[in-house]
Amino acid sequence: MHEQLELPLFPPIGFKALLDQKGVAHLSIKINPRLKRSWRVRLDRFKGCYELFIPPCCADAPEEIKAALIDWVLLACKKKSRNTRRIKRALEEQIAEYIRLQNGPWHGRVFDREKVEGKTLGCKYDLALLLGHINATYFSDEIKALIRWGSPRSKTSFLSLRRDNHDNRLNLITIAGIYNHPDVPRYAIEGVIFHEMAHIKSAPFKRAGRNIIHGREFKALERSYPHYRQWAFWEKHDLPKLCRNDRKKAKNRFVFF
Ligand SMILES: [Zn+2]
Repeated sequence: MHEQLELPLFPPIGFKALLDQKGVAHLSIKINPRLKRSWRVRLDRFKGCYELFIPPCCADAPEEIKAALIDWVLLACKKKSRNTRRIKRALEEQIAEYIRLQNGPWHGRVFDREKVEGKTLGCKYDLALLLGHINATYFSDEIKALIRWGSPRSKTSFLSLRRDNHDNRLNLITIAGIYNHPDVPRYAIEGVIFHEMAHIKSAPFKRAGRNIIHGREFKALERSYPHYRQWAFWEKHDLPKLCRNDRKKAKNRFVFF
């Protein structure tokens, strides 16, 4: 009895079992150690089956991420319609988010400051001005970071680490392109910038082999933003509406990883 308790009650389901469950016969999944943040699919014409190459951090991913990868291949191999593109893009965001959290901030690449400096003005807000204001108001000007807009209509904001030409560490905050919209209230854009700045002050750490990103200390800091509740509500209720309206107007765009 005692020994049994030490076994995980529900071991994470493997890719093979998931493929069986979904009735997918023509797909094999391979781990490619050279892949860090991307995944790709290839058609093996001789065998007549698809091969999905995934980065090592996805090998033990939770079931929903494994399922998202499989669904992504099934969509990637299908005839494209407006709807499949939309679902595929949502899957890509879900998978990319997971990979980002596993790998921690990325700091391999050299980043040229000039790429973002002086280019932070959006349709309504200048990100650099807002960052300066938040830094002075809530962080005693302690946070050193560059900020930029993500690609148009992107939905995820994130923090990454880079190096400049002189090997100095750079914190680079990317704000989801969807926030570059005239209907976004100031407390909301400041909320998302505050969230990413809080990641710099309260850095992720490892516990029992897991990356703790939004730990207790982080959450307390995040909630010290005076408009936190208002922003959280807006992000949950109003941002999706903005995305929906925006999508109607947007042309189809192909995202390639
Ligand atoms: Zn976060």
